[in-house]
Amino acid sequence: MDFGLKGKRALVCASSKGLGRGCAEALAGEGVNLVINARTEADIEATAQEIRDTYGVEVVAVAADVTTEEGREKLLAACGQIDILVNNAGGPPPGVWTDWDREDFIKALDANMLTPIALIKALVPAMMERGWGRVVNITSRSVKSPLAPLGLSNSARAGLTGYVAGTSRQIAHAGVTMNNLLPGSHATARIDSLDTNAAKAQNIGFDEARAKRQAGNPMKRDGTAEEFGAACAFLCSRQAAFITGQNLLLDGGEFHSTL
Ligand code: NAP
Repeated sequence: MDFGLKGKRALVCASSKGLGRGCAEALAGEGVNLVINARTEADIEATAQEIRDTYGVEVVAVAADVTTEEGREKLLAACGQIDILVNNAGGPPPGVWTDWDREDFIKALDANMLTPIALIKALVPAMMERGWGRVVNITSRSVKSPLAPLGLSNSARAGLTGYVAGTSRQIAHAGVTMNNLLPGSHATARIDSLDTNAAKAQNIGFDEARAKRQAGNPMKRDGTAEEFGAACAFLCSRQAAFITGQNLLLDGGEFHSTL
């Protein structure tokens, strides 16, 4: 299927590894030129070169912390015309509800709510003027079903979800769609660190903690960055032009619900 994306240009934030990289590669596979980003310069440069070599698309790599104003300025200065925005950043640290004070919440809100909103405000008006655009926000399954140790994530991402629900309906008339992808457990560095924490908390080994977690998933495995990226590319496709304001859960059926 031709997704109609050849020659478009995407900004994929936080994309040297993991789910962001999965999205960047899936878009590159559709012929999309990229601006990619991460804080670690060597990693983002290496990823950019691998994507250029594999897919033959243009890739601009920007080493910057997307959660800071300075980082976003650097990123936007390198962007040029952007047709597709994929919002992503690292997730907040786990803990217990009594751990977090105001500063912790401000950090989480900055990273996982206010940063995507700032980039949407910076890039969507020009998409609307051109009459075509796509925004995909990487959030979390914690929006649908809270994860107890991830209270900061539960809170900040719920805020972004409310913003997207309202805003997506105000930009749809101009050919710009905006949707959220909600990852369940995926095989990335983030899940390695969460399993390490769970193992410590339960006083068991890493492998046992991982097996216990995966046993609760109907597919008995984690998702892959490739599977995740494919869903992102579909939401950006011309075929998905009538899908907006939606929250797509990618969790192997782990969250039980009829609808
Ligand atoms: P990951 O494998 O740890 O990759 C994170 C990527 O983002 C890296 O390229 C990292 O590079 C970059 N990054 C992190 N913070 C950044 C920042 N402030 N500015 C720019 N780049 C940044 O993480 P992941 O598993 O792909 O997770 C992506 C998002 O999905 C996170 O918000 C996570 O909480 C959420 N999520 C993941 C899962 C899962 O199972 N994997 C489930 C639910 C939600 P640098 O470190 O060099 O910056």
